[in-house]
Amino acid sequence: MEKNKIPQATAKRLPLYYRFINNLNHQGKKRVSSKELSEAVKVDSATIRRDFSYFGALGRKGYGYDVEYLLRFFRKTLDQDEVTEVTLIGVGNLGTAFLHYNFMKNNNTKIVAAFDANQDKVGTEVGGVPVFHIDDLEKKMKGVHVAILTVPANEAQNITNRLVDFGVSGILNFTPARITVPEKIRIHHIDLAVELQALVYFLKHYPLDQE
Ligand code: ATP
Repeated sequence: MEKNKIPQATAKRLPLYYRFINNLNHQGKKRVSSKELSEAVKVDSATIRRDFSYFGALGRKGYGYDVEYLLRFFRKTLDQDEVTEVTLIGVGNLGTAFLHYNFMKNNNTKIVAAFDANQDKVGTEVGGVPVFHIDDLEKKMKGVHVAILTVPANEAQNITNRLVDFGVSGILNFTPARITVPEKIRIHHIDLAVELQALVYFLKHYPLDQE
């Protein structure tokens, strides 16, 4: 099954499955049931069965799924055999945390260069990643096609436009700015403050023990 045949909702759960299956494999487990998976990744087992049928993985009653088969499929589909290089723009509090975070632990993505406008940060290394001046973006990006955006909101659109002109194909936007990009560019928004606020709102208005 080719990866572009997998529905988007299923594809989004793939890294989640991958992480869990990878752990199982490290523990030496050979098979896993959809119930076990369901409890671990918090996805209902009917969805898991449907998702896995797209992967060509047929679970057998009383046996479950073959861990090695799944792992091979996920690695290939997620391009885990190849490291995807990523760049980060804005080495502030959040950006610094990301540079120190070991993304390689769970998936093969690696931040290889960071950019900032602050001269005090330029020329330093944060978490082993060199920080370049934002003016040198196009010069230092080389073959990188994915960018993480952790600049102040009012700088976000401007920098995005430069990234797009450079040829970046994916942006993970951590700024609260609602950025516009051409259709061919994929942008995912993660606004931590909004997520936290939503959680607090749900806790207050939809307490789980009263549902
Ligand atoms: P800090 O406390 O280090 O300033 P912060 O996350 O609170 O961190 P922000 O104002 O959100 O600070 O800025 C994040 C980072 O983005 C800072 O390091 C800042 O120097 C950098 N920055 C600001 N403008 C630009 C720009 N145009 N291009 C690249 N980086 C920028």
